[in-house]
Amino acid sequence: MQTNFSAAQLADPHVAESEKILRKCVHCGFCTATCPTYVTLGNELDSPRGRIYLIKDMLENGRPADKEIVTHIDRCLSCLACMTTCPSGVNYMHLVDHARAHIQETYKRPLLDRLTRAMLAFVLPYPNRFRAALKLAGLGRPFIGLFEKLPALRPVAAMLKLAPASIPPASPLALPGTHAGKDARRGRVAILTGCAQSVLDPAIDDTTISLLTRLGVEVVVPEGEGCCGALVHHMGREGQALASARQNVEAWTRAIDHGGLDAIIITASGCGTTIKDYGFMLRLDPAYAEKAARVSALAKDVTEYLAGLDLPEPVRKPGMVVAYHSACSMQHGQKITRQPKELLAKAGFVVREPREGHLCCGSAGTYNILQPEISAKLRDRKVKNIEATGASVVATGNIGCITQIASAAKLPVVHTIKLLDWAYGGPKPEGVSDSGLIAAE
Ligand code: SF4
Ligand code: SF4
Repeated sequence: MQTNFSAAQLADPHVAESEKILRKCVHCGFCTATCPTYVTLGNELDSPRGRIYLIKDMLENGRPADKEIVTHIDRCLSCLACMTTCPSGVNYMHLVDHARAHIQETYKRPLLDRLTRAMLAFVLPYPNRFRAALKLAGLGRPFIGLFEKLPALRPVAAMLKLAPASIPPASPLALPGTHAGKDARRGRVAILTGCAQSVLDPAIDDTTISLLTRLGVEVVVPEGEGCCGALVHHMGREGQALASARQNVEAWTRAIDHGGLDAIIITASGCGTTIKDYGFMLRLDPAYAEKAARVSALAKDVTEYLAGLDLPEPVRKPGMVVAYHSACSMQHGQKITRQPKELLAKAGFVVREPREGHLCCGSAGTYNILQPEISAKLRDRKVKNIEATGASVVATGNIGCITQIASAAKLPVVHTIKLLDWAYGGPKPEGVSDSGLIAAE
């Protein structure tokens, strides 16, 4: 694609980066076929190619964002299916991240939208605030019907619908400290305890720590780590996202310097995509660029790490049919496609992949709150495809997808690590039936 930026514009490194990306796009439109919003809405402006044109026009003309571009960029899930499809290697992720930051800086949203976004950014990344908000959600539940009738309050209704009726207590294993591996030490890793997941389902990290330590891996929960910044990054709140990134880089650098780390284990693929991008996000900060690149290189999804270990034979072979839902951030963001399925199969599960596996389930960070109508359409389509597999359980590696799919599916939805842990001697995941369970020889 030809571009027409002035030398003065290109002096801004963010613009220069976006220009490089824009020039790679050859307008072929292959990406439209796999874009969930184009497939759902059928509008070119809700396709990757359409959005690329809108972003180019806004940046090239140095214009503030307007209502049209905000509408179409807000509808983008950042699922990155377009990046998997694109034959020219267009880095749509960095382009749309830049566009979102530009929107945040130059566009004044309607008051209720601004308040909703500010509230999400204030609450979600902080486990204590999120836990308190979920407790309060019970008071708002009787008004869901009323909120749904008022377009500006639909995000509040969506939030209340997603809030679980009860939340588990915080896990003591997530507190800073070291969990020694059993027997001979096979490795030393840090684990990201993060934010929303630690409130909604602390058992995911507990299970990960339990399985890794049983396999002989020492697991460190570093003092000072927190939210990875992905939720606010996708809302264009660059300052807040970079502050989270710096805080985590500091925490993990201390852990690297005191004992070394083989990997930084991430159990929510949405966080993994962002942490693997810290090196890029902090590239212009001389105090952090090198440390952030080192952290990104060490970041691994838990299934990526397990696939590199020589695992023993499972203790039991559950012999159960599992529908594996690959989160967008797993398959498109991190290009992890093989490992979770291979680990499940090796552990004795029969793995089935739902049709249209490349399409997003509509969760996408805060998307299911901010764009509830499109999100619900994508969720229902995903659930229909999952249920058609005839599986007894759904496995996936991202808490956002678990919450989203479970809100409509009739079968249990669990994190992949819980099924693996079960096969390797851990407890049966809650909600999963043990019919078909057979003891390993
Ligand atoms: S990130 Fe997803 S929703 Fe956004 S343009 Fe790409 S394919 Fe479409
Ligand atoms: S597939 Fe790639 S090159 Fe083709 S229009 Fe989409 S982003 Fe541009």
